[in-house]
Amino acid sequence: MRSKSLLRPRDVIGHVTHITPEFLAERQLHGLLLDLDNTLVPYGSYASGEAAEVLAWARDLKLSGIGLYLLSNATGRRAAFWLDHLGFQGVGLAGKPNPRAYRHALRGLGLPPTQVGMVGDQLFTDVLGGNLCGMHTILVQPLAVNALPHTRVARKLERAVLKRYGHDWRP
Ligand SMILES: [Mg+2]
Repeated sequence: MRSKSLLRPRDVIGHVTHITPEFLAERQLHGLLLDLDNTLVPYGSYASGEAAEVLAWARDLKLSGIGLYLLSNATGRRAAFWLDHLGFQGVGLAGKPNPRAYRHALRGLGLPPTQVGMVGDQLFTDVLGGNLCGMHTILVQPLAVNALPHTRVARKLERAVLKRYGHDWRP
């Protein structure tokens, strides 16, 4: 893969629930590594009641035989809270985009990188690390606008990169 392409997601989707068993079968994917903040739940949220749709989506994918693994840079405590509700394996403090945690997660799923999708809302962590590992990368629109200054800068850069790839990006 050319280094220029390392920030390029293979798919750009509006919401994580757009990933169906059919979507995965078309791409020959058998597992997903999932980002937490702004991918599955709004940044910093602990509102499990409001996550009912996403929790049901994850349960249905699991029932259809898709391996799921949470790969989050959030604190271990925050990841543990959500893992309890999500009912699958995963880690916090993953250190994305460092490929180390991705490889550990792939071993946890028992799948080769080519059969696993990395799903996240950030190019410079989720997508970059997934591409470095040779995974199929799926960028989702962030669920909430994150007001942290460094995130605002990252979003600006993401917009510039995505524009080159022909994607309009919100927010
Ligand atoms: Mg995120």
